Amino acid sequence: MRTAVVGINWGDEGKGRMVDLLAESYDIVVRYQGGNNAGHTVVNEKGKFILNLLPSGILRDSTINIMGPGMVIDLKHLTEEIERLKEKGVSITPDNLKISDRATICLPYHVMQDCLEEDRLKGKKFGSTRRGIGPVYGDKYMKKTLKMGDLLYDDQLKTKVSDLVEWKNLLFSAYGEKIELSSILEWLKKYSMILSPFVTNTGDILRKAEKEGKSILFEAQLGALRDVDYGILPYTTSSTTLASYAGIGSGVPELTPISVIGIVKAYSSCVGEGPFVSEMFGEDGNLLREAGGEYGAATGRPRRVGAIDIPATKYGILVQGATEIAITKLDILSCFKQIPVCTQYELEGKLISDFPYPSLLNKCQPHIEYLEGWSQDISDIRKFSDLPEAAQSYLLFLEKELGCKINYVSVGKERDQYLKMR
Ligand code: GDP
Repeated sequence: MRTAVVGINWGDEGKGRMVDLLAESYDIVVRYQGGNNAGHTVVNEKGKFILNLLPSGILRDSTINIMGPGMVIDLKHLTEEIERLKEKGVSITPDNLKISDRATICLPYHVMQDCLEEDRLKGKKFGSTRRGIGPVYGDKYMKKTLKMGDLLYDDQLKTKVSDLVEWKNLLFSAYGEKIELSSILEWLKKYSMILSPFVTNTGDILRKAEKEGKSILFEAQLGALRDVDYGILPYTTSSTTLASYAGIGSGVPELTPISVIGIVKAYSSCVGEGPFVSEMFGEDGNLLREAGGEYGAATGRPRRVGAIDIPATKYGILVQGATEIAITKLDILSCFKQIPVCTQYELEGKLISDFPYPSLLNKCQPHIEYLEGWSQDISDIRKFSDLPEAAQSYLLFLEKELGCKINYVSVGKERDQYLKMR
């Protein structure tokens, strides 16, 4: 069984929570893109965990976790994340965590470059998390980065790093900054001692697992609208957030996911800048933000919130190739008497149902329909038929509008707070 769990919208849909739940049925969980720029929040019997880099299967004792070649890894951040989890009793060893030798290292100067660029952009900024992700992916495609495997061959490391530092200093000198070769080498040495034992060929592991009939869960970061090619440029991330990249980003380009579970939140949220047609402001917006606890897991930034956006969600389902969806945070909508749904966009006096080219989004107005609310706590309900009628109707309405079957519905952040639609 090969399944991908992906975000359908702007990210923060609750993928971590769903992967933590689903991981029980899989032998291996793989993170295949991104870095520590986003965070999954997982709550289970061991406590509350924020995972930026580690796959969400790390909280299950028998799961093998892989960080694939598609990822960019800040060694300091990863070391600290591992330490934080170990302090809470999570076991992390080279037996249950495997880091691809082809994953790219995010260096301190990538973070510095990200911050300098965001400062230069001032009011025009794109909402970078200042964690070096854009610069490191840029360098990757210029073939000017280090891979995790380079840590294993330290006889060649110094030559590689000195050329990179010389090149980067051409840029930094324009800002009156300079990076020192010795400090980069020291940084690499310090974290290499801790992380080298985890570095391996993840493709070999996955191929062997596939032959033995083991099951693999591919875990994505962010959502379809943040994809570098298919998202709302330039307000995207710098990697491919789509399910079709799962094999490539994991070390097995020849293996694509067989099923794709798209995660959709029962309403919308978006961190940072960029067009967000169904955004809600004022009292309703604040009510939803507070009820949903919509503050960034990685940065603490308040998230923008809005009605579920049907055109954007249909587009996300399409480009993700979702074979089913999971709706999260349905319990949060208990805060509204009536449930707003953005069913279409109004563009230049016409109603449109399809998600347009990003440059047109600023001209779109939301066309909102209201469905009856249920105004009662549903977080203890575990069966579809036990949901209030209005909640059932909301889910059936979404299924029809989105043209994709809903499989899971999450009604709380704890592992067991969910129900199956059928
Ligand atoms: P991810 O990056 O897609 O994993 O999403 P985040 O972790 O950034 O945001 C999801 C947040 O919602 C986390 O704090 C989860 O604990 C929480 N969460 C997930 N599903 C539910 C749900 O069904 N109900 C409630 N109340 N919280 C949820």
